[in-house]
Amino acid sequence: SNGAVQTKDVANSIVLVPIATIGCGKTTLALALVKLFGWGHFQNDNVTVKKGRPQFFADSISSLLTTNPVVVADRNNHQKRERDQLINDVSRSVTDARFVALHYVHDRSNYDDIRKATRERVLARGDNHQTIQAGSKGQDEILEIMEGFMHRFQPLDPTDAPDDQFDLVIDIDPTVSSRENLEVIISKMYETYPALFKGTEMPNDTDLDDAIDWAMNDYRPDIKMD
Ligand code: GDP
Ligand code: MG
Repeated sequence: SNGAVQTKDVANSIVLVPIATIGCGKTTLALALVKLFGWGHFQNDNVTVKKGRPQFFADSISSLLTTNPVVVADRNNHQKRERDQLINDVSRSVTDARFVALHYVHDRSNYDDIRKATRERVLARGDNHQTIQAGSKGQDEILEIMEGFMHRFQPLDPTDAPDDQFDLVIDIDPTVSSRENLEVIISKMYETYPALFKGTEMPNDTDLDDAIDWAMNDYRPDIKMD
């Protein structure tokens, strides 16, 4: 990351990078942050190109950084090679970009609880998703896709590449409510990057409740594939 600007003075070029599996609440959190702060958000699930998807995703994030101080890179980023690709490709065009991990901690010992939480959410989501439509796809097929992500998940390791490039790591819990995780993220961001919030009236508890409520109940994906 760019050493020229001190962390406390950073006010733009921040990429929020979820490290997650399906149903953790990535999109819900991203929508709530967009609602509260007007930040940018790009969902990999909205990418319709077949070739060069990772590059297209990174380019979309870079492009949104020109008009938004913070952009959420909404895909699972559950493997190191994905994190490496995103960080490298965005940094090439946005040289002062900083990356913040939203690390949905997946301890192998906690997998049963994570499965329970994410399966319930995904099955309850039904068809309200671009690619994984629990109402139409067979349940077994969906659970299998979810298991694949859990199996391939590589925890964040700040001692080694590529995860040593994160400016900040925010650990969150896939088994608790998105409301709780939202609060953790906002307070860590505020603590670490106070200049980012200069002139912004910080949201209160009711504002956070309302943002999560909106994200969970009023959001519909723009597109559907399959
Ligand atoms: P993603 O796959 O990580 O993007 O997960 P989503 O954000 O789409 O969340 C999966 C489903 O769970 C959606 O239908 C959300 O509305 C729902 N959801 C997200 N957070 C919560 C929560 O805290 N409680 C409950 N009950 N449902 C949630
Ligand atoms: Mg999503």
